[in-house]
Amino acid sequence: MSLKINFSNYENIVFFTGAGMSAESNIPTYRGSGGIWHKYKFEEYACQVAFDRDPEKVLEFHKIRRKAVLECTPHNGHHAIAKFERSRGGVSIVTQNIDGMHQRAGNINITELHGSLFRVRCLNHGTHEDLGAFTEFKCSCGQYLRPDITWFGDSLDQGVMEKALSLISSCDLFISVGTSGVVWPAAGFPEIAKKAGAKCIEINPEPSEMSYLYAETIQGKAGEILPDLLL
Ligand SMILES: [Zn+2]
Repeated sequence: MSLKINFSNYENIVFFTGAGMSAESNIPTYRGSGGIWHKYKFEEYACQVAFDRDPEKVLEFHKIRRKAVLECTPHNGHHAIAKFERSRGGVSIVTQNIDGMHQRAGNINITELHGSLFRVRCLNHGTHEDLGAFTEFKCSCGQYLRPDITWFGDSLDQGVMEKALSLISSCDLFISVGTSGVVWPAAGFPEIAKKAGAKCIEINPEPSEMSYLYAETIQGKAGEILPDLLL
């Protein structure tokens, strides 16, 4: 890894992270070969219809997911971004991941596009954090608590999307880490950053279909590249 960036030249830096970032912590991925959606039908576990039909089945599934995530730990790439955020202002993360790994590494400015495995919401009482093992399936009002995740068929949270777009269109350095870049709307992010005048850098084990949008593609693992790059 030879690329050196003079970060003091940049005021607002966005890290955009995807499944590859989590996969390096051995978190089971959802899409792709060997992904969760090859083993489980998402129609039965990850959509509102399934939840309405059999909430406990869906909640049991998410309980297993949460347990699997809690058995993993943030890697050196997560830690490097957390240290970097502590060291200066103007650092934010926009992530497609729902596993809370950036929080566990110590990052603060995190926009979770697809929600969080560690939040639930009640139809009557709104959203709250739930860091435990899904011991309570129901709110005190009797409603089943729904995982606060963007499921298949759900639209993205408008407020979250607006926040992400505002960060991306006002950054001057956009660093994409472990994203395939093909899932919409995330697929449009590097282009938005580029149009706004940001320098765009991609870190990925394999070049993505979107590599042409980036000024630089650094091929390699986030856990190896980031500690070096953000030193
Ligand atoms: Zn409630």
